[in-house]
Order: sequence, then structure tokens, then C-alpha cells
Amino acid sequence: MHSSSRQPLESYPGIRLRIGHYIGGKTMLQQEGRNGPVYDPSIGQQIAQLDFAGVPEVQAAVQSAAAAFPAWSELPPPQRVRVLFRYRELLLRDQSRLAGLITREHGKTLADAGGELQRGLEVVEFACGIPHLLKGGYSDRVASGVDSWSLRQPLGVCLGITPFNFPAMVPMWMYPIAIACGNTFVLKPSEKDPSCPLRLAELFSEAGLPDGVLNVINGDQRTVEYLLGDERIAAVSFVGSTPVAEHIYAEAGRRGKRAQALGGAKNHLVVMPDADLARAVDALTGSAYGSAGERCMAISVAVAVGQAADPLVKALAVKARSLHIGPGTQPGVDMGPLVTASHRERVLSYIDLGLKEGAQLVVDGRECRVDGHAHGFYLGACLFDRVTPAMRIYREEIFGPVLVVVRVPDIDSAIALVNQHAYGNGAVIFTTSGNTANLFMRNVQAGMVGINVPIPVPMAFHSFGGWKRSLFGPLHIHGTDGVRFYTRLKTVSQRWPEASGQGPVSLGF
Ligand code: NAD
Repeated sequence: MHSSSRQPLESYPGIRLRIGHYIGGKTMLQQEGRNGPVYDPSIGQQIAQLDFAGVPEVQAAVQSAAAAFPAWSELPPPQRVRVLFRYRELLLRDQSRLAGLITREHGKTLADAGGELQRGLEVVEFACGIPHLLKGGYSDRVASGVDSWSLRQPLGVCLGITPFNFPAMVPMWMYPIAIACGNTFVLKPSEKDPSCPLRLAELFSEAGLPDGVLNVINGDQRTVEYLLGDERIAAVSFVGSTPVAEHIYAEAGRRGKRAQALGGAKNHLVVMPDADLARAVDALTGSAYGSAGERCMAISVAVAVGQAADPLVKALAVKARSLHIGPGTQPGVDMGPLVTASHRERVLSYIDLGLKEGAQLVVDGRECRVDGHAHGFYLGACLFDRVTPAMRIYREEIFGPVLVVVRVPDIDSAIALVNQHAYGNGAVIFTTSGNTANLFMRNVQAGMVGINVPIPVPMAFHSFGGWKRSLFGPLHIHGTDGVRFYTRLKTVSQRWPEASGQGPVSLGF
């Protein structure tokens, strides 16, 4: 272990009472303008104040990225990735304290925060191979004396807008690949947990990234509108809720920017009667309630097929009641608080709604209390049985520790159920039959499929993305799709005649 990782979090440079922006390689605070609170959800108290960028800060960040682009894009890819190799070492050095920053503002357990950093680190490692990934194709002699080849060139200034639930991993899905491809980047992280992304940018500078190549601009919806209005931004990657994803995709397209916008989810896990019940129950519990259900790949619908239903609901209820809820920093805690008081209220309103809609609340987490943390944003695990596809608690994304069970008679109706849902991020089946698994995998309409794997998040060298209203745009994020998104193709045809042409001019095609 590196010696610096033993330093306490309190003395880590990422801890700030006032949080500003990172522009041109410098951390800066605003003299005036709007701001907002940042909370520690485990105690329910404000711990910092965040500057919300106005037009001058947005312009300064985009200007700094635009000014850095010519030199950075001209640097040969093998030299660019040397900075990424050094960055990887610094991320490893600071991993536990970066995890501390995440837990402090998001609420998830330290283990979970470390896990998301690991997934982000894997994208940095993938981006270290960019010289290979940028190789184009070459065709010798496409016509007499003519050769042709393709190359991928960077786009310019790219923008990333990211959600609260993965304050490190989701930004790292974007900027390492964009920057390795030769672009410069402006990141607008979530206003709910901004400290870790800001620190990630500072560490990239420490690794040797030239000033202006990565900028972080904090703020809310208005800041995003200012950013989208800047014509120097060539491409936008967005991850967040579906209504905002749809808006950003349309707005970016209207302004002639390349865009990819990943939205919300309602991921189903189908339990067949032949499934290993104990494994399915463990998988469901971890994926539904891990990170308090605030994961885009959380399972929020259990589809119980035939006779699987009664034993499944019984075993799930036992597990849900046994979860240990408390601050994410405390050892042994399974589930931390929700991110904000207002998000907790929203999730509570869905529990009321489910009762009104006639679903059966088998486990009620509303009375959860955590000793010594009376004001934390905690909510216990909730389990609804006998939920129907017409209910809003089935159709809408709740994004909290609420699992709903829908009972269906057979695999065909299970697949039809998943396919009729508006979202198509992930879909999972638990079965011991290869035939059933294959039928499901081939026919299910979702971008990421799990077979006896509860959270089928693709590794960095594959691409991440959903179908239907979970993704707007043709390309998934990271992996080879990420390289395609952050570059544009140029195809060259070349002839070197030995002497100047003397024949008649041809107008043929
Ligand atoms: P959100 O949509 O509220 O916010 C995401 C980002 O957009 C933030 O940076 C926010 O400041 C900005 N924003 C919010 N409203 C805006 C508006 N009207 N105009 C412009 N910008 C706006 O999402 P969230 O609550 O931070 O995150 C949770 C959501 O993200 C869930 O729906 C979850 O499913 C989704 N998510 C999806 C994926 C995926 O890969 N598909 C991954 C993580 C999270």
C-alpha cells in the first residue's frame, strides 16, 4: 500500500468547504453568482457550498479547452497515453481517499465507492491502449496506382454531463477515452456529489496532463444550458434520467453537436422455477438494495415465473429484513442513506402510491431508524408483491431500495413483459436450463443481458448502453463505441503519378 493512502480523509486536498471549478489547470472559486448546498446524507447536514457556474465561468472553461486542443490533438497518441499511465498510478495511490470523498457526499458504502473507482480505473487502463484502437484500415491498390486508407481524428472540445449515483465511474466512462483520442474535455458533474470528480481532474494534472485538456465546471440545469449554447463544443455525452437525456439529445442535435444520452432504467430479473433459488435471492437482494437502489443497473423488478413465486417472495422478505442500514463509512453496513432528503421523499411517495394501487407491501422499510443518525436520509429495504404492469410503481423508475415482484406463468410471458417496458437497460435471467437462457438472451430487448449474473455491467473493453428509452443515440459508451464516438472518420485516396498527365481529361466517376 502506498504511504499516502494511510493519511486520514480530513487532511486530503479533496475535502473543501467551498467547492468551485477546475479551469485551465487551476481550481477557482466564483466571486459572485449562484450556489447550492452539498450534504452528507448519513447525517443529513450541509457540509459544503458549491458554486453554480454562470456564463463567464462556462466561457472560460470552454475557452481553456479550445485553446488546449491544437497542441494536445497534435501530440502523438503514444505520448498522450504516457500521461494516462501516470494517472492510473495516482488513482491507485489515492483510491481509498477518493472512495471516502464519494461516500461522504453520496452515502454509498466505502466498499461500493471503491468498486466504482475500480470500474473507472479500468476505463483508464483501456484508454492506455488508444494507439492500437486508433489504427485505421489500409487498402493497397483500390484502383490502378491508387491506395486508400482511413484514419480517426479527434472532434475538438467534448462535454460530459453526469449523474449523482456514480460520481467517479460515469465521468470516467467518458473523459479518459475522449482525451486519449486527442480531444479536450469539459465535465459538468452532478451538483449533489461534486468533490470526487473535481479531485479526479486535479490528479490528472498531477500526472502531467497539460492545462485546459480537462476542465470541471460545476452547476445545475442552467449551467448545462449555457454549455449547450456554446458552439465550440463539438460533442455531448450525457448520463442521467430519461427526460433530461431526451432533452439533451434533442438540444445537442438541434445545435449540430454529436450526442449520446444514456437515461433511466427499470431492470428485470426473471427467476425460472428451475433456478437455484438461494443464488437468485442473494443476487436479487444485492442488486436491488445495493447502493440503496441508486444504480442504473439495479434490479427493480423481480419476475417470478410459475411456482418460483411463493418461495422467492418468502426468501426475499427474510433477506430484505436482515439488511444492516447505516452510514456508508461504518463496517458491516449493507446499505447507506439515500442521496438527499428530497429524493427520499420522492421514493416514499412511490411506496404510498404502490399501496394505493393495490400492491402488497411485504417488507416496509419506512420505519427504519439508525441510532445516532436521526437526521440521515435513511430508508429501509421495501418489497412489493403482486405488482401488475399497469401500476406506476412498475412502469416508472423509483431509484431507491424498492423491489417489486410481478408474477407470470411462463418464460414467454416473462420475455413479453420485459419487452413491453419502456426502458431497456439491463435484463437478467436465473435458470439452470441452457435452452431457456438462450431463448431469453436472443429475444429480450435490452442492451445488457445477464445469465445467472445479477448486474451485467460490461467491462471497459466492451461498451455500456441500453435500448429503448434507456439510451438516445446510436453508440454505447466506453469500449470501441467510445472510441468511435470521440473520433471522426477520414478516408483518404492517394495516387502518386510518375509524370504529369498528358492524356484527355476524364469526367467519369
Ligand atoms: P438527472 O437527470 O437529474 O441529472 C443528471 C445531470 O443532468 C446532472 O449533472 C444534472 O445537474 C443535470 N440536469 C438535471 N436536470 C437537467 C435539466 N433539466 N437540463 C439540463 N441538465 C440537467 O439524474 P440524477 O438524478 O443525477 O441521476 C439518476 C438518474 O441517472 C437515474 O434516472 C438513473 O437511471 C440514471 N443513470 C443512468 C445510467 C445509464 O447508464 N443509463 C447510469 C447512471 C445513472
